[in-house]
Amino acid sequence: DGGPPARLTVRDLTVRFAGLTALDAVGFTVEPGSVHAVIGPNGAGKSTCFNVLSGVYRATSGSVRFGDAELTVLPPHRIAALGVARTFQNIALSPRLPVRDNLMLGRHRLTRAGFLSCGLRLPSARREAARHGERVEEIAAFVGLTGLLATPVGLLPYGVQKRVELARALCMEPRLLLLDEPVAGMTGGERRDMAGLIAAVRESLGISILLVEHDMGMVMRLADTVTVLDFGRRIAHGPPEEVQSDPGVVRAYLGT
Ligand code: ADP
Ligand code: MG
Repeated sequence: DGGPPARLTVRDLTVRFAGLTALDAVGFTVEPGSVHAVIGPNGAGKSTCFNVLSGVYRATSGSVRFGDAELTVLPPHRIAALGVARTFQNIALSPRLPVRDNLMLGRHRLTRAGFLSCGLRLPSARREAARHGERVEEIAAFVGLTGLLATPVGLLPYGVQKRVELARALCMEPRLLLLDEPVAGMTGGERRDMAGLIAAVRESLGISILLVEHDMGMVMRLADTVTVLDFGRRIAHGPPEEVQSDPGVVRAYLGT
């Protein structure tokens, strides 16, 4: 596993693209075991923030501490190895592979020898693969995918694919889970299911969650603390009820 619970502290995070400041000295903290939401209108810098946290984009300046580690200097695989897992706004699964294989791929960083490639000839490798297989089944059950493990992901409804994606992130045994718009494009029922799952991930597994979300109902239901971004700046911060009635936030969402 990634180790004991760790706090994520983002300080003065700035990201500039040619001529555009996507994030402007943004700061917030995700306490261990909490759900922290980052919200804001389109183009506010939410995905950019996730991309820096997961090592996909380089910060122009500022710092991101996770426990004792400084994430802004690390490549994606090192950040993942510290126990920071993410899902993508657009699904990034292998559609032809069955659910089980997609989930096993999620365990890759936890294996020493690379059990998929070593032919499973050594008894120790076979034992390790069996152990990972059992854990994959536990996680599939937790997420409600039992019975679908042999189905190619591409044949599943969109809402179920999003659950596979969550399961794959959980297979990395993360300490912190970054969820980018986990209910985008979902029906009302699928949204409720996913909200319940996210709450269960925090409550039953004790994993901290950083959530980027448009759906205010989801944010109100799930988040302990909310950071609101607009044009790369932090315009509000606090408990969801306070943030929801903040005049600056209302203005940003209405675009006036
Ligand atoms: P959000 O996720 O809140 O909708 P993004 O973080 O995707 O916003 O984008 C913030 C701003 O940064 C937007 O103006 C977007 O066009 C810009 N941006 C994002 N990624 C890049 C990139 N790789 N190159 C140039 N501009 C980018
Ligand atoms: Mg985005």
